Amino acid sequence: MKMPCQKSSELKLLVEEAKRYTKDGKVADYIPELGKANRDDLSIAIHYPDGKCISAGDIDKKITLQSISKVISLALVLMERGFQYVFERVGMEPTGDPFNSIAKLETMAPAKPLNPMINAGALVVTHMIKGDSIADRFHRLLSFIRELADDSSIGYCEQVAQSEFETADLNRALCYFLKQHHIITEDVDALLDLYTKQCAIEMNCLDLGRIGMIFAMDGMDPLNGKRIMPEDVARICKTFMVTCGMYNASGEFAIKIGIPAKSGVSGGIMGAVPGKFGIGIFGPALDEKGNSVAGIKLLELLSRNYRLSMF
Ligand code: GLN
Repeated sequence: MKMPCQKSSELKLLVEEAKRYTKDGKVADYIPELGKANRDDLSIAIHYPDGKCISAGDIDKKITLQSISKVISLALVLMERGFQYVFERVGMEPTGDPFNSIAKLETMAPAKPLNPMINAGALVVTHMIKGDSIADRFHRLLSFIRELADDSSIGYCEQVAQSEFETADLNRALCYFLKQHHIITEDVDALLDLYTKQCAIEMNCLDLGRIGMIFAMDGMDPLNGKRIMPEDVARICKTFMVTCGMYNASGEFAIKIGIPAKSGVSGGIMGAVPGKFGIGIFGPALDEKGNSVAGIKLLELLSRNYRLSMF
């Protein structure tokens, strides 16, 4: 059973301070459906291992995971395929390039994506999800996400998935490049169908914070004593969150905030403070690198006030 999330006046003050920065950002509109978000929204939920939750802002709003889903699909394929199989096909190094860049693929030999958090790498990860059909593979991923969030009502937003599918020419280009180099072997539109549904999986900040909490607790669900993923898988995912989770802003984020985190262009950020708690943030105004501008500010205030940096 989920405890209701308590409104926190302390968090509210931090949200109000961070909210001032939403005007410096812009809502993502390269996926047309995402352009409908309200630039000035900002909300946060912090989920503790004992089930306690504190929040500020409108945490009932649903957000699509977008790139946050990349860390979860990675956990799933590491469990399904094993480390060797996965890392033969996708690397472990940050790129320093934007998340949708094709540049490094062309200059590297073999043309293996540098890491699973950039689009090229995430497409290869989604390609590795096991199953007999797109529907079956999507269902496996969705079931895993429902288990992490302990919420069987989680689904995906059809309009956002469709909107991205219709406009994902850059991701199509990445897939065709990877197919030419035999890293992807399935039909490109079938893979994009699965990938855009994955990115459109939607939940509220509370669920997002709960998933962050599972990563923070090394893959254990302390509320029911169940191990959802092996400790090594959680460790690898958190390491990628530190080195590549905020795209080409990960270095600055590690220095200023020092929390494993993963962002998405919907304006979501999932944080996992090791051994302590999970964080779910929603703030759709993005900076030029595609990260929630006020969300980052909020994490900076939290990290500074409560000494959360792991370094
Ligand atoms: N679905 C988005 C894309 O592939 C995810 C990118 C992101 O959140 N950075 O472009």
